[in-house]
Formats: sequence, C-alpha cells, structure tokens
Amino acid sequence: MTLFLSPFPPTQYARHQHRVLPKPQASSFSSSFQPIQSHPKSTGVVVIGAGLAGLAAATHLNSRNIPFLLLEASDAVGGRVRTDVVDGFLLDRGFQIFITAYPEAQKLLHYPSLNLRNFYSGARVYYNSQFHTVSNPLRHFWDSVQSLANPIGSVFDKLLIAPTTLRVLSKSDDEILTSEELPTVDLLRRFGFSDSIIRRFFRPFFGGVFFDRELETTSRLFHFIFKCLALGDNALPANGIGAIPEQLAAKLPPNSILLNSKVVSVDLEEPGSGSGSPSVRLENGEVIRSDLGIIVAVEEPQAAKLLPGRSELVKQKPARSTVCLYFSMDRSQVPIRDPVLFLNGSGMGIVNNMFFATNVAPSYGPAEKALVSVSLIGMFEGMSDDDLRAEVVRELSGWFGDSMVGSWRHLRTYRIGFAQPNQRPPTDLMKNPRIGSGVYACGDHLTSATFDGALLSGRRAAEALLRDKALVRG
Ligand SMILES: Cc1cc2nc3c(=O)[nH]c(=O)nc-3n(C[C@H](O)[C@H](O)[C@H](O)COP(=O)(O)OP(=O)(O)OC[C@H]3O[C@@H](n4cnc5c(N)ncnc54)[C@H](O)[C@@H]3O)c2cc1C
Repeated sequence: MTLFLSPFPPTQYARHQHRVLPKPQASSFSSSFQPIQSHPKSTGVVVIGAGLAGLAAATHLNSRNIPFLLLEASDAVGGRVRTDVVDGFLLDRGFQIFITAYPEAQKLLHYPSLNLRNFYSGARVYYNSQFHTVSNPLRHFWDSVQSLANPIGSVFDKLLIAPTTLRVLSKSDDEILTSEELPTVDLLRRFGFSDSIIRRFFRPFFGGVFFDRELETTSRLFHFIFKCLALGDNALPANGIGAIPEQLAAKLPPNSILLNSKVVSVDLEEPGSGSGSPSVRLENGEVIRSDLGIIVAVEEPQAAKLLPGRSELVKQKPARSTVCLYFSMDRSQVPIRDPVLFLNGSGMGIVNNMFFATNVAPSYGPAEKALVSVSLIGMFEGMSDDDLRAEVVRELSGWFGDSMVGSWRHLRTYRIGFAQPNQRPPTDLMKNPRIGSGVYACGDHLTSATFDGALLSGRRAAEALLRDKALVRG
C-alpha cells in the first residue's frame, strides 16, 4: 500500500509573486488547460520540460498531492508531440503513431476522449512499380492469407510472423527491455527472415518507427514495439497527436505549468554541505527553489547542457532525424479510402513512407480537402526545402501518377534534427533516474524512445524522488 506522508501543508505554497506570461501562439492546436499566470519562488518539486516525460512526472506528483511547478521553455506543452493548425489542416510535427497497447499510456490516458482513429493493421508496400499488401494476421487474417504469394518476402517469411509474435507475447515488458540485445537487422536474420522481406518491409516499416533504415536499433526496442503492435491498434487522436500531452496537462492543477520559461542552470544540493535545496535559474535570471527536488525532463541534448559532467546521460551516438512534408489535395481525388500506411519497398528514392492522413482521421483536414503526409529518414542537410519538395513530388508521381500528384499543394515541411535518441546497442533502457542529491532525470533517453518510454520514465523519476524523501512507502 502507498502512504502519503507530506510534511508540507498546502498553504506553504500559497505566497507567490505574480507575473503575466505571453499566451501560446495561435498556430498551436487549441489548448484546454490554462497556462500559469503567476508563480512562486519556491515549490515542492520543480519539473523542467513539459514533454510527455515531464507531464507524466507532474501527473504522478499531483496524484500524491505534492506541490510542483512544471517549467517549459517553449510556448506550449507536448515537447516533440505537438500539432499545428495550418489552413484548417492538423499538422503533427512529424509523422507519429500512437499504439493503443502502450502499457503506461493505458494507465495514464483516457482513450475515449482522444477519439482515436485507427490505421489499417499492416501496410501497402510500393515495390516493382506496384503496391502489395502486408497484413497483421491477428487483425486481417484473410488479407494476410491473400498476401502470402506477393513478392514482399517469401511464404516462409510470412509464416515466420506467427512464431515471432508468440515469442514476444510470452515475455513481460521488463524482460524485453533488459533481454540480451543485438541490432534489429541481426535479430531478423537470426530469426530466419530473408533479405527480401527485410529490404522491402522491415527497413521501411521499422526504419520509419526508429528513423533508422539500417535497423541498427536495439532488438529490445524492436521486441517492445512488435509486442505492442500485436496487442493494440495504431491510431491518431482526432484532434492531432498533440491532444495526448494536452489531455495530461488539462488534468494538472491551475497555475502549475509555466510556459516560455527556459531553465539555464540547475544548482545541485551538495550532500552534507547544508546548502539547502536544489534550485533552477531561468533565462530571465529568476531563481526557483525546490523543497523536495528537481526532475529534469528535457530531451537528451538539453539534459547534457543542464547537467554537465553527467556523462551517463549523454550518448556519443548521432541522433535520429526525420523530415516530414505535408501537402493538400482534393478529397475526391484520393486514390484509395483505406486508412493505410504506404511504404517505399523499392530500395530507391528518398521517401520512406506516406499516407493520406484524412483517410485515418477525417478531422485532419477541411471537409473537401485531403491531407497527405510524407516522411523521409535523416535531415537531408544538403538539399533545400524546395529541392526536397520537388524530389518528393517527382518520386510520388511515379507511385500515383503525374496528374494526381501534380495537383498537390505544399503546406509545410518539418525538419526534425532530434527526433529520437540513438538506441543502437549497447543500450540501457532502465536507467536510474537519480542524478545527484535531490536531482532526478526522465525522458525517452532513459528508457525506450517512445511515447510510452517517456511516460514511464516520468513516473519512475517521481517515484524515486518520493521514495528518497520518504514521502511514500511502496
Ligand atoms: C517526428 C517524431 C515522430 C515520432 N514518432 C513516434 C511514434 O510514432 N511513436 C512513439 O511512441 N514515439 C514516437 N516518437 C518519439 C516520442 O515522441 C518521444 O520519445 C517522446 O515524445 C519524448 O518525450 P520526452 O518528454 O522525453 O521529451 P520531449 O518531448 O523532447 O520533451 C522535452 C521538453 O523539455 C523542454 N525543454 C528543453 N530544454 C528546456 C529547458 N532548458 N528549460 C525548460 N524546458 C526545456 C522542451 O521544450 C520539451 O518540451 C516520435 C518523435 C518524433 C520527433
């Protein structure tokens, strides 16, 4: 049983200095929570970063009635999980899919309010100038029987999916995340998958999930995602992927989130020095002291800056990057109605995957218009946005025909340099959140580079802090 032992009466945190903050920019999707208008100079716990990890940490603290302040550098919550509204279209900042079987998400999120819209469980692979369906046999059995003979791998490859699924389903998540690891591509070969299914299906599909077409990413992450895909649906919230962090933020107390507040330094409590509690300094010079501790919930490169000398937080591996281009077209011209993901299995070109987002969630575009989302892996620094757009249009004209693709109107291009931390072996997906006296870390770089990993890491950091301060017994 968990017991709350807080020594702090709520009124201790009631004396604040007031400051009015700018409103979030109108391009962000409308938010149902109210950002803070004033803030205290000290609080129970300071959480830095309002991505999924910071929001999960704050949610956990809130559920234990621990006062906290969530400081976010940007103009809205969500971190890497945000949606912009452009000309009536919902543009997620990069192609993102929510898997309903994510275990920590199931505990934290209220799915019905997200109004989740499902993808077809499988994909359509462009190979040899044709489209071929690959289906999840647990969801679309007859489709998968019909696809046995297609050229996206051998019949043996397709029959191997069932034992691979059973193998991951028999393991707990903790077992998966701590199991012996090797690069995903080596694991697939060890299982017996042929080079053709690896090239035509696994590279574009899991390469798109990990932003890593080489499939160097740890087999632990492959197993975890594979298990979640087997157990759940791939979905998008009707109001955009940003609805996920917004739902978490809306449940936090008023005046607990401070936007546009970049932390520039974290001052650690020196053990035994009697120097008091750790504190943070904001870009504008303000200092906020924490009575209980600080949770650093920023992305890996920022964590390295805020916590210099903590080498365990920084991986010397290049980050995973992506470019996502959005186009609009007439809804009546969309060549299919299925909510399916298209993969480039041809081994040529720069497009990795694309889909008609309004087929999955019609709310992603105005009534008569369709939204097209195209994803590339890597940053393509040597190419201008115009060149990238022209190349994508040229390539997809080969898939769908000049007349259709020629009518697309470009909406926006997102280049995301730090999409995910690099998780090729060796990895530690169960990193200790304790950083120093009174300072804790969370974020996808401490666990798996997924929504779920970020949420889980947030809870773990909050639990570690509360245990260390003897505020809970578990
Ligand atoms: C394009 C893209 C596609 C993805 N697709 C998927 C997917 O399909 N499925 C999936 O499970 N995962 C996906 N991911 C990964 C997933 O989004 C991340 O793993 C997760 O959101 C990380 O959350 P986080 O809280 O750890 O970090 P972040 O979201 O990066 O949050 C960190 C926050 O800290 C703030 N911050 C940084 N520095 C400071 C500072 N000094 N002071 C105050 N605040 C600061 C940042 O502004 C940010 O809001 C994708 C990621 C991207 C970018």
